[in-house]
Amino acid sequence: MTSAETPVLILLGPPGAGKGTQARMLEEEQGLVQLSTGDMLRAAVAQGTPAGLAAKAVMEAGALVSDEIVLAILQERMAQPDCARGIILDGFPRTDGQAAALEQLLADQGLRITAAVSLEVDDEAMVGRVSGRYSCAKCGEGYHDSFRQPAHAGTCDKCGASEMKRRADDNATTVRERLKAYHAQTAPLIAFYEAKGVLQRIDAMAAIDEVRSALGRVIGRVAV
Ligand code: ADP
Ligand code: ZN
Repeated sequence: MTSAETPVLILLGPPGAGKGTQARMLEEEQGLVQLSTGDMLRAAVAQGTPAGLAAKAVMEAGALVSDEIVLAILQERMAQPDCARGIILDGFPRTDGQAAALEQLLADQGLRITAAVSLEVDDEAMVGRVSGRYSCAKCGEGYHDSFRQPAHAGTCDKCGASEMKRRADDNATTVRERLKAYHAQTAPLIAFYEAKGVLQRIDAMAAIDEVRSALGRVIGRVAV
């Protein structure tokens, strides 16, 4: 990545707030690159890399993977040339240490944060949202047992694939642990970005399309 004008968006919010859903839409609509540390870690677990082996049990318990592992994985991804189009950080940073490391990483590349968007939701609703969700194994399109079934059960609306997958950590018990980790370790970053003057808050209890419009307005206002 090269210029201070390259968009760098951070999506903050608890599990279930819609970070992944919105990041995927931004990727399609604005050509930005979604960087989900959760997806990267799940890929490492699936491949059985040393990082994946270390992360697996931690993720299944709903706790945070060490900064060291997460930073190594993110840094490697950020070095890929496609990131020059601009990035959406989804699920990163999640700790003070990660936020500090990100400052350095961006400074080294002559980049700055365009906006840190806090997706504001209530916790109790998140348990229901997360425990019923699943996605297409092929294209990643998201579905939900109660809120969003595909038009034909078991077939992806978007790509027609018939294999769906659920995350090992998307169950009510683990979600509560993830919410605790969010409030203890990640929520304090909202004040950090507010103090830097880059924070924007969005009501993410609203419908997906409304959140998407609100996010579009934030980006339209601050990016380019
Ligand atoms: P969600 O936001 O719904 O919890 P993610 O896919 O972002 O889902 O993360 C899933 C799990 O991956 C987290 O509970 C945590 O164990 C691990 N993880 C993802 N990103 C980070 C990060 N930046 N730092 C530490 N752990 C992370
Ligand atoms: Zn699909």
